[in-house]
Amino acid sequence: MNQLEVSIVQDEQGVVQYKGHTFFTLYPNSGKKIEDLLGFSVILIHAAHSTFASFTIQRLRAFNDPRMYLKPIFFLQPSIDSGNYINTLVDGSVFNLNQLDSILPRVEDILIKNQSVKPFEPNSYESILVMKLLTFAYTRSRKSIEPIPYIFSGINYAYPALSCNFEHIEEYKVFELLDLSEKEGLIKGSFYDKTHYCNQCHQGALNYRSVCPKCNSSNSETQDIIHHFPCGNVGPMSDYKNHLDDGLTCSKCNKSLRHIGVDYDKPSVLHYCRKCTHRFQDFEVKAKCLHCEFDNSLEALLEKEIKSYVITNKGENAAIYGYNVINREVEEIAGTVNYSFFTSMIKLEIERMKVTSHFGNIAAIAIHNAGELLSMVGKDRSPVLLAEITAIIRRFIRPYDLVSFKNSSLIVFSITDVSLDDAAFILIDIVELLEKLITDNVKDFVLNIEKKIKPLTTQLQTTNQLDELITNFQ
Ligand SMILES: [Zn+2]
Ligand SMILES: [Zn+2]
Ligand SMILES: [Zn+2]
Repeated sequence: MNQLEVSIVQDEQGVVQYKGHTFFTLYPNSGKKIEDLLGFSVILIHAAHSTFASFTIQRLRAFNDPRMYLKPIFFLQPSIDSGNYINTLVDGSVFNLNQLDSILPRVEDILIKNQSVKPFEPNSYESILVMKLLTFAYTRSRKSIEPIPYIFSGINYAYPALSCNFEHIEEYKVFELLDLSEKEGLIKGSFYDKTHYCNQCHQGALNYRSVCPKCNSSNSETQDIIHHFPCGNVGPMSDYKNHLDDGLTCSKCNKSLRHIGVDYDKPSVLHYCRKCTHRFQDFEVKAKCLHCEFDNSLEALLEKEIKSYVITNKGENAAIYGYNVINREVEEIAGTVNYSFFTSMIKLEIERMKVTSHFGNIAAIAIHNAGELLSMVGKDRSPVLLAEITAIIRRFIRPYDLVSFKNSSLIVFSITDVSLDDAAFILIDIVELLEKLITDNVKDFVLNIEKKIKPLTTQLQTTNQLDELITNFQ
């Protein structure tokens, strides 16, 4: 019996509907934005051009939306082996659309796993990346996170779902994220190898070579040193050469040298620097950075232990239910206090209210997409932005009022000695100015901000009042 063969074809847009899934094929020069691809269940990257394929898969996995970075993505018509690292980012490949059946089980497996990852809003840039690392491994049924030697990596090794988020020059920060995840008990590392980086720019592409100890030039030549036994003369080979033939003649006693080991030997070598003419016996070894060209002495190189990791139970739980890493940065913002100190001071304030007749209010501002905001601002500028947010709030409140970041997406503060109505107006002014600060500084970012205010009362426990303030933000 001949089976009926049906050719699977895509429409002009590159879309294929097949067995309940919508496949979209991404070609070079496609005008589509990444946002436009979110709705397709599977992306096929046309991979005949391997540079396009590896660039594209890294960009899609670097996108800060789990609907994209967790999406099943396959190569269509891959030209050559794309390398180990790229193969950890892509979910497989097909040579033509008629092979879609072969990847369907994998597609469905990933889609089911993706559904088990609960919606979660990370509150910081670090949390976004840690979640990405964990959920990507989890949805691909990987229990471990391995470093992969990668020639295009700034640090020589790439970690799936993590390295693609960094510019080449910033890739060293991958280690900060891995260390943070390990400290939080989400992953557990073990020794894999050691590698070295330039101490100026943290890049791993280094040219190790032997140089002149005086001028650092590698432009040198090496000669044997000859010891002539009969007269005891010791000198470089060139001193023994004559212009007439290939033979060697001693410049001290004028005898011809005959047999090595009998009338002469070569006890060592001598290096001659062609740049500064220095003669020396021992080279120095230096590592020139191919990125910034700094010539590192070996002792000065940054030595780094590369680890492989297994995902702990806590890490797997975090992949499913979400996890915010403890952000020490928010505790160090000028003009703020940590949350437990804030709580104690509010408690004191309530005590004060029992004996005097003044108003006290507590306010909270939630920036629901703070993680996304801080990732757009970048890790280096994030503390500056948080400090500017604090400065705006402080402008409207009294010097003895307190501001605290419960995390980078939730700010609480007191507004004392004004009525609730006045405090509510102050809060409106603050939020207006924060919106202006952020839209002025971060292009194309739509802020998802919410505010809440409560009058303090002597009737309820401090913690209850604070909990009521910060919970149920919608
Ligand atoms: Zn030299
Ligand atoms: Zn001699
Ligand atoms: Zn360098």
